[in-house]
Amino acid sequence: MISVTVVVEKLAEAAARKASGLRYNLEGLGLEGSLKRIAEEVVEETAQLLVFERRGLLRCAVCSKGPFTRKGLYLHLMRVHRDYIRELVRRALEEKLLES
Ligand SMILES: [Zn+2]
Repeated sequence: MISVTVVVEKLAEAAARKASGLRYNLEGLGLEGSLKRIAEEVVEETAQLLVFERRGLLRCAVCSKGPFTRKGLYLHLMRVHRDYIRELVRRALEEKLLES
């Protein structure tokens, strides 16, 4: 059984990648069925909270810094906001698991 800490970490990383327009892959977590669907929803919803566009350029939605390249935004999110993203993921997971 995979630990919650690992799932939160992987989903946080995936959310930062998705926010940056980079590919991500949740297959390694081995989640199936409704858990897999919930994990995908958490990544998508969290990603939306991390990025916004101004004049077609990516900026960080947490601190408004930018503009960034896709890779630059990903690195910024993981270096500066990793704990915050983990917390967003943890809360979203909890909400969805209690609903389901
Ligand atoms: Zn930022």
